[in-house]
Amino acid sequence: MSNKIRVTVWNEYRHEKTNDAVKAIYPDGMHSVIAGFLNSQPDIEAKTATLDEPEHGLTDEVLSQTDVLIWWGHMAHHEVSDSVVNKVHRRVLDGMGLIALHSAHFSKIFTKLMGTTCALKWREFGEHERLWVIEPGHPIASGIGEYIEIPQVEMYGERFDIPAPDTLVFISWYPGGEVFRSGCCYYRGRGKVFYFRPGHETFPIFHQPEIQKVITNAVRWAAPVDGPIPTFEHWLPIEDISK
Ligand code: ZN
Repeated sequence: MSNKIRVTVWNEYRHEKTNDAVKAIYPDGMHSVIAGFLNSQPDIEAKTATLDEPEHGLTDEVLSQTDVLIWWGHMAHHEVSDSVVNKVHRRVLDGMGLIALHSAHFSKIFTKLMGTTCALKWREFGEHERLWVIEPGHPIASGIGEYIEIPQVEMYGERFDIPAPDTLVFISWYPGGEVFRSGCCYYRGRGKVFYFRPGHETFPIFHQPEIQKVITNAVRWAAPVDGPIPTFEHWLPIEDISK
């Protein structure tokens, strides 16, 4: 058995089939590009799953063999079945990592894990974005410069209605004057969640090497560790407390 990190890249895979501009950037879907750069790493093995497959490609078998699930969705969040969302949620609490990309802020699984609306401001103008690393010692920032500049993006602005992250790794700046918490780490149960903002479908953002580096780092950070499995039960004292 290999000890590679097993990643499943999930994509709703609709824009790429219906929009020529998106198809030109991601002819085989964003999930194929993301799985492709992850599979170039010796310690990662990435597969893909999409909305229109049976059970959205996330069967019990697939989920049980996934260490880190990456999620991209936008126009079809409501088509994701609640039973699959509940199974993914249980796997995260049990230790599976989840990386939510860009418009996955409104996915059922991310909003369920956050407990808030996850709403934000947005503008599709194609301006540039500067993502500043504000936690340079964090493993997700490994090998990244002080900032990443993305030539053309959809703007997401604060307030981003999320709970305060356990660790905030990136803050974005835009020429329009807005800022955004773009790289947010959370612990949920035994699992880890990373929200990463970049990745609008009409710009080639997942082809950009620094973005690929961040997602690769995030996979390693979010992978399960061999920590204790807590018990939740009536508890007898470890020390003698009768005296
Ligand atoms: Zn977008």
